[in-house]
Amino acid sequence: ALFERIEKYDGNIKAFITLTKEQAEKTAAELDRLQAEDKMDGNMFGVPVGIKDNIVTKDILTTCASRMLHNFKPVYDATVMTKLKNENSILMGKLNMDEFAMGSTSETSYFQTTKNPWNLNCSPGGSSGGSAAAVAAGFVPYALGTDTGGSVRQPASFCGIVGMKPTYGRVSRFGLIAFASSLDQVGPMTRTVRDNAKVLELISGEDKANDMTSSNNQDTDFLTGIDKDIKGMKLALPKEFLGSDVDDEVTAAVLKAKERFESLGATVEEVEMPNLKYVVSSYYLIASSEASANLARFDGIRYGYRAENAKNLEELYKKSRGEGFGDEVKRRILLGTYVLSAGHYDDYYVKAQKLRRLVSNDVQRILTDYDLIIGPTSTTPAHKYDEVEIEGTKEYKNDILTIPANLVGVPSLSIPCGLTEDNRPIGMQLIGNHFEERKIYNAAYQFE
Ligand code: GLN
Repeated sequence: ALFERIEKYDGNIKAFITLTKEQAEKTAAELDRLQAEDKMDGNMFGVPVGIKDNIVTKDILTTCASRMLHNFKPVYDATVMTKLKNENSILMGKLNMDEFAMGSTSETSYFQTTKNPWNLNCSPGGSSGGSAAAVAAGFVPYALGTDTGGSVRQPASFCGIVGMKPTYGRVSRFGLIAFASSLDQVGPMTRTVRDNAKVLELISGEDKANDMTSSNNQDTDFLTGIDKDIKGMKLALPKEFLGSDVDDEVTAAVLKAKERFESLGATVEEVEMPNLKYVVSSYYLIASSEASANLARFDGIRYGYRAENAKNLEELYKKSRGEGFGDEVKRRILLGTYVLSAGHYDDYYVKAQKLRRLVSNDVQRILTDYDLIIGPTSTTPAHKYDEVEIEGTKEYKNDILTIPANLVGVPSLSIPCGLTEDNRPIGMQLIGNHFEERKIYNAAYQFE
């Protein structure tokens, strides 16, 4: 039924890059057999899933929405994929994204531009735009996205769904094609808070063999107590989160959400986050630096696209990278390489790291006195494609509200909190301290 639905509507929405119908039907038939023998097993028995196309899947095309990987079939599964397979989930296909997860609209994809199911003239956000659109369109009950600077939460907010950027180290990054290794996390995208908590429970945990940044000290039970009341919970709303760059309709929705939290027995106080103004600069320097190093592996030799007619090795590298990467990816590599170069390292990279520390101090200070930080997920609702000219670095500043959680490594959940007058979803985020996803889910569940 879902493949029928996808065939009917995805021609317009364009959420999927690859459909894995044959394999899915085979798995489903196997599961039917197990069920007939009363051998149902696994938390996701028969539940379909869609996966962002920067998470590697064995023998299944994994493109990062790039020409560079247009023909790349990995020989292994990412840890998150292995975990979901072990729970007997059924992979439906691979989802569109901005190329190498760089972008906020899903437009930098080499293959296609995904449309927002709520309004086909609007962007679903990005970079996990395919994942958000697939869940919102009812193609899959849940999907995985990745979030380096907001790429799970912003598309979740644009598409009216729930999206979590977990604590850095909560989920294994093994098999996630790296963009910025100190920021990347895989996160669940679902229709409800409860589903989200369940999926995170299934994909989290230490990955001793393959990801040494995954934490060995974590409680992954997010469902116990998810429905307990939140009387007395202390929420902080940074006044900078409702600054002049935030749309009026977004501000109004978040202030209404604040009242709702108060009616549930929580207190909400205004606080200050003075270093918020530095996060965009800090993030784009750090993320681009790490990207320039991570993307050095795409040389036309080992993976994916290889240019033809190169006369020598150097020309092969140059042509393959020149033809294989899109403009936004090249911009980041150039910026990152410049920032890390001997003459500029202290001026840019070191400074960016210092700013990262300042923001971290802000967040830690607030979370000493408060349980959670709340605020809008994005400064705007989904924009119409023809209204905003998305070009170059102008769009970067819109990531200001999602970036702090990545720089600091803390978890942040985006949940729907209203609609604009013309029916575009608005999202708000709940940010907690490291490994306090459970508290976030509790508050979000009560709010929902
Ligand atoms: N929009 C941000 C960027 O382009 C975030 C991307 C992400 O989280 N993957 O870098």
